[in-house]
Amino acid sequence: MDIQDLQRDNIKQLKPYSTARAEFKGNAEIFLDANENPYGSPLPQAHNRYPDPIQAALKERIAQIKGIPPKHIFIGNGSDEAIDLIIRAFCEPKQDNIIIMTPTYGMYEVSAQLNNVEIKRVSLTPDFQLDLNNIAETINSNTKVVFICSPNNPTGNSIKKLDIETLLNNFQGLVVVDEAYINYSKQYSIINELTEYPNLVVLQTFSKAWGLAGLRIGMAFGSLPLIEILNKVKPPYNLSEVTQKLAVEALDNLPLINSWIKETVAERELLKDNLIKLDFVVNVYPSDANFLLVKFNDANAVYNYLLENGIIVRNRSSIEMCENTLRISIGTPQENEKLIACLTRYNVA
Ligand SMILES: *Cc1c(COP(=O)(O)O)cnc(C)c1O
Repeated sequence: MDIQDLQRDNIKQLKPYSTARAEFKGNAEIFLDANENPYGSPLPQAHNRYPDPIQAALKERIAQIKGIPPKHIFIGNGSDEAIDLIIRAFCEPKQDNIIIMTPTYGMYEVSAQLNNVEIKRVSLTPDFQLDLNNIAETINSNTKVVFICSPNNPTGNSIKKLDIETLLNNFQGLVVVDEAYINYSKQYSIINELTEYPNLVVLQTFSKAWGLAGLRIGMAFGSLPLIEILNKVKPPYNLSEVTQKLAVEALDNLPLINSWIKETVAERELLKDNLIKLDFVVNVYPSDANFLLVKFNDANAVYNYLLENGIIVRNRSSIEMCENTLRISIGTPQENEKLIACLTRYNVA
């Protein structure tokens, strides 16, 4: 399978923007090449120079932690940027299509719509797994990308790896596996199978377990041609200097992150046990993520009640297969206790 051939014709022709810093080689003392302000910044710290367009230091640290060479890593301004660039680079507007597995994360659809790319929806099975027959029937010669979210948002479950592999083996386009919640999952990342599948793209993010949603950093892992294409289409300075620096610092705190993950998973199971005891809770779905999808007999009423009590959760009731559900993020132990205390009062009232 040739990933180069899969990209849009105009992207094949695209000569990427060449940054001032990328053009010069060697050492210089005086930088008069990028029209920057030479005096500094009106801040305690200077940010007057453009950041590293290829984020070399950050990729080096990620490579060490993930065991994936830097050349196989793309870094975006959030995974949302990677999602958009994948669609933009590979899907011809008004001609190609993507397949999403509903119910799932909303950005695949938004990015496709923005790029005027058709969206084909295949429902997950009742236990929220891939419907491989239906997917096979839906794929046509214009299908360029299939998005799989595992663990899936908003259902919380992991998608069976064997099913993803079946798709990877049989589909002649990109299979994007969005692993935003992988740190909370019992199932291993599919990242170790990158060498086997040139059409596999794995998305991960600093927004969830790493606690850096406000910095906007997402990662895409894939084959060399794929990463080269994403680098070619990305805005040259898509990650700020501050973001790159803080992310490198954050990566030194792996033990702290691991302890948060452990606590979140334990809290998730505790919250699940406590929720299921409430008689107006119909179901708490199995979760491999840092949230629970909970079915109520009247989700809208519970949503409004929680809101009146200063607790905000995500109402997913309007989504097909998620009728009467709320998606509840796992908070700190105290926050989770307050949630349960509040819901217990609802039970009485
Ligand atoms: C939260 C989330 C992301 C993260 O997006 P960023 O742009 O990296 O913040 C990606 N995919 C899914 C499914 C998510 O739920």
